[in-house]
Amino acid sequence: MLKIKKGGVHPHDEKESTEHKKIEALPVPSKLFIPLRQHIGEPAVPVVKAGDMVKKGQVVAESPDGRATPVHSSTSGKVAEIGNYMHPLYGLSPCVVIESDGLDEWQENLLTERNWETLSNAEMIDIIFKNGIVGMGGAGFPTHIKLSPPKDKQIDTLIVNGAECEPYLTSDYRMMMEFSDEVIKGTLITMKILNVKTCYIGIEHNKPDAIKLLTEKCKGTPIQIVELETRYPQGAEKMMIKVITGREVPSGKLPMDVGCAVQNIGTLKAITEAVEKNIPLIERVVTVAGKTVKDPKNLMVKLGTPFKEMFEYCGGFIAPNGKIIMGGPMMGMAQVNLESVVIKAASGIVSIADNDVDYQPEKACIRCGRCVEVCTMGLRPNILSILSEKGQHQTAQTDYDLMDCVECGCCYYVCPSRRNIVHYIRQSKAKNAMLRAAAKTGSK
Ligand code: SF4
Ligand code: SF4
Repeated sequence: MLKIKKGGVHPHDEKESTEHKKIEALPVPSKLFIPLRQHIGEPAVPVVKAGDMVKKGQVVAESPDGRATPVHSSTSGKVAEIGNYMHPLYGLSPCVVIESDGLDEWQENLLTERNWETLSNAEMIDIIFKNGIVGMGGAGFPTHIKLSPPKDKQIDTLIVNGAECEPYLTSDYRMMMEFSDEVIKGTLITMKILNVKTCYIGIEHNKPDAIKLLTEKCKGTPIQIVELETRYPQGAEKMMIKVITGREVPSGKLPMDVGCAVQNIGTLKAITEAVEKNIPLIERVVTVAGKTVKDPKNLMVKLGTPFKEMFEYCGGFIAPNGKIIMGGPMMGMAQVNLESVVIKAASGIVSIADNDVDYQPEKACIRCGRCVEVCTMGLRPNILSILSEKGQHQTAQTDYDLMDCVECGCCYYVCPSRRNIVHYIRQSKAKNAMLRAAAKTGSK
């Protein structure tokens, strides 16, 4: 049994540079590079070709299997090419490149007005699929699948993750403040689809305005607001479930195995817009922050926008960068350059100043035990890293619950030997996945 314990760390939240600024719309870039892979699963398959004219919201790539989600054009213009460009997670990857015509015109007859209360669950799930909704908190899991659990899994509780525990990120907070009606309606829609009567929105107590606003607006609904301690990684799914419901997701199991579903703030807003207006997921709120950014902001950005356009809009840089990270500094992904583009799961882009990057070489483990103390999943990160170094990846899985690691980075954060524990853990996970795949196909 996995033992979730308190653990966690308290990095400075660094949110003050953007938390009180209203979301601004980034002007439409002249070129958008829309990745075909913006979800877990197979990449979408292009249904347009170079030279085609497209409108905003038009499908440019279809799901190959009904599980992966379709991809839509974020603006109107001409398809310049289907080519390989920088994806923030996968490096050079296929993208539909759209040259904007500057008009930003919706596809004709796309938008509509619907009352979700008159729709069946099957109709709403189909709408959510067709509008390309995925988990926008970082995982990119297709939402229509999450809303269709197997019949033997009885879900009774919906948890909305408003923790936003990563330093610098404030996009969820700004959405709770500026799109609270959409977030609440998306929550009610999700409750109806999952047929649950209990729902909690968990928000860390460093966001008192959001707690106050949502508490007020949720009066008379079955939604309860839960104030959470500010502590990283409070927003990790298994942590939230434990803290809010007291239930522990067993090792190797999913939230649905303990009757819970967890949804992200941005995803709920997207669900409302899809179900009520038929608006596909073509833009999102992204925090652009970091100590080197001249004027950090939260931007409403079209999917496929290169990061460099966002930094330019924020006044550029005032000091040399050591790293650019998509997501937060604890769990985010370091970028090779600023050509990477915004995808559905990009909650933020954070610059880390060169003099803030820790370039110390890794040393041997001194068995201080700090990583064990902070690991919220109750793991032994020191042992996992050593097993990975020795190539004992399967032992890490069978004897030390490797797969329960949520890659939060708390262990690395406190390690005096600067051991790249998360890197080792990812290596072991990847190695074991390769071994499983090889066993399935019978290859060696
Ligand atoms: S990254 Fe994994 S091992 Fe390290 S503290 Fe987080 S859950 Fe534990
Ligand atoms: S914190 Fe670092 S040095 Fe200490 S036990 Fe963990 S891996 Fe070893």
